[in-house]
Amino acid sequence: MKYLAVSLTLCLVGVMQAQPRRNYWQQSADYTIHVDFDHNTHRYSGVQSIAYTNNSPDTLHKVFFHLQYNAFQPGSNMDERSRDISDPDRRVGNRIAGLSDSEIGFMEVVEFKHDNDVADIEHLGTILNVQLSKPIPPNGKAQFDMSFRAQSPKQIRRSGRNNIEGIHYSMAQWYPKLANYDRYGWNTTPYVGREFYGIWGNFDVHISIDRKYTLAGTGVLQNADDIGHGYSATKRKRGRGKQTWHFRAERVHDFMWAADPEYIHTTHQVPNGPLLRFFYREKDNEHTDNWEAMPEYMQRFFELADSLVGPYPYSEFSFIQGGDGGMEYPMATLMLGRGKLKGMVGLAVHEAMHNWFYGMIATNETRYPWIDEGFTTFVENLIMQALFPDDDTRGLPHYSNYLTYLQQWNAGATESLTTPADHYITNRGYGVASYSQGCMYLVNLQHIMGEDVFWKGFRNFFNRWKFHHPHPEDFIRELEKVSGLQLQWFNDLWIGTTQAIDIGIDTVYEDEGFTHIVLRRYQELPFPATVVLISEGSAPEIHHVPLDLMYGRKLERGKQHPFWKWAARTYTLKIDRPIADIDAVYLDPFFETSDVNRSNNRWTKDNE
Ligand SMILES: [Zn+2]
Repeated sequence: MKYLAVSLTLCLVGVMQAQPRRNYWQQSADYTIHVDFDHNTHRYSGVQSIAYTNNSPDTLHKVFFHLQYNAFQPGSNMDERSRDISDPDRRVGNRIAGLSDSEIGFMEVVEFKHDNDVADIEHLGTILNVQLSKPIPPNGKAQFDMSFRAQSPKQIRRSGRNNIEGIHYSMAQWYPKLANYDRYGWNTTPYVGREFYGIWGNFDVHISIDRKYTLAGTGVLQNADDIGHGYSATKRKRGRGKQTWHFRAERVHDFMWAADPEYIHTTHQVPNGPLLRFFYREKDNEHTDNWEAMPEYMQRFFELADSLVGPYPYSEFSFIQGGDGGMEYPMATLMLGRGKLKGMVGLAVHEAMHNWFYGMIATNETRYPWIDEGFTTFVENLIMQALFPDDDTRGLPHYSNYLTYLQQWNAGATESLTTPADHYITNRGYGVASYSQGCMYLVNLQHIMGEDVFWKGFRNFFNRWKFHHPHPEDFIRELEKVSGLQLQWFNDLWIGTTQAIDIGIDTVYEDEGFTHIVLRRYQELPFPATVVLISEGSAPEIHHVPLDLMYGRKLERGKQHPFWKWAARTYTLKIDRPIADIDAVYLDPFFETSDVNRSNNRWTKDNE
């Protein structure tokens, strides 16, 4: 508890010192939620109060809420979308269409008051539209009080009851969640099973449920001594009847909980880090060993993530068996618990890493799913390589994401990163774009800038924008500031188009004692080149060809050459050595770019 108070104070000081930028604002919402849960009917009723601050320069006449459980009903957008898309998620498929009334999810706001006045509400699927009787002025505050009732659906995707491994309740997206209003307006995306975007605030959550259940989730339990269940030494009281769990989470933008009567609950304190909690029901079977091995791996994960990106700010983190794969939530993850050890560690690393990219860097995922997924994947790859150094990844941490991107490119199916998350033509297109194109975005930038400067900018971005809602331009500005390079061109092309990188070696010849290496741009995306010369008996020689659009050069070991004009298809690199001295010429030999054709990246004397 003391640790939490100290760390939050430090965070607040940190944020105040690193104001993102002038004229930046973001909304604020503090939740108090009380729910009474009936595990016989899987229904619950609740009252929720939100203290809302409109920090925008605009007067708000309405507000919107997400009611995501309404997606799990036949005929919902999520159902229609899943039955229409050519490659449906097998977890969803046509399962929503077949749900009975007792199996669907629903969420209904019964009454809504704004500063004690009843407001007009309209339910539109997964969105609640609230017409306020009086506007909220710029910098004005509002109090929303609502009562609601809901039914936890038979688990289809992420949230719901009785998951595939028998966990009773995975309670994500379980309360009316205020939509975010940012500099581009309201985010009112209907839920089709994909993205989230929430408002920073404090959550005070009270859940009354049969005492047989052990609960896990976001936040810190406030009444551990009353509860027991592994949160304190208090023995579990036998018999029926409910007990009320009181959680509090500070500076988060969502709240998830899970409940199961058979959870094993273990803890592990990371030195100078969070208290880790593990909740699983794998008793005396092959999966128990994996869960018991997790604390050691996860301690190393937190140490690595802290040093690579920045410190984890909360006092606790929970790994919870539940959900339908792996999914990130503030201070916790829901994950399936019966995989192989490396798969489980990878899943846990990915989802926990999201507490940096989603949890703290809280971008609008419905518009930029490639930021939270791509940035998470990029760091996850590095951490997994550190955790499993003997694996055959050929020393190339991002290789599998490169291959996935390449495969999609070769199939002619690459979709632009400007596509809204819910509107990719295929689920695969969404996945490739978010995880692999997003990861390659950073890989390519690292190559343009040089590794040291890139990481300085990456950390600057994290520190400046944590606990805020940045947009893609905010990231590239941080990289520009730290490197002195112009980089907007790359942002516009990589995000706004599907143009690809393919720089190759056209010809190599000698003229007047100089070796001439003619580089050619075979695809549309202009890109700088790094050329490596190999000669027997001497160290590899590195030559940098910067692109004119950069208006600068990366600071890395090697010889610098004049700029390559972006519109010119070819560039002749002049080397002050006879061709007889050179055994081989390589472009990007360590797979540090997303070059889509590597067959033209090599010239050797023998195969001249
Ligand atoms: Zn992810």
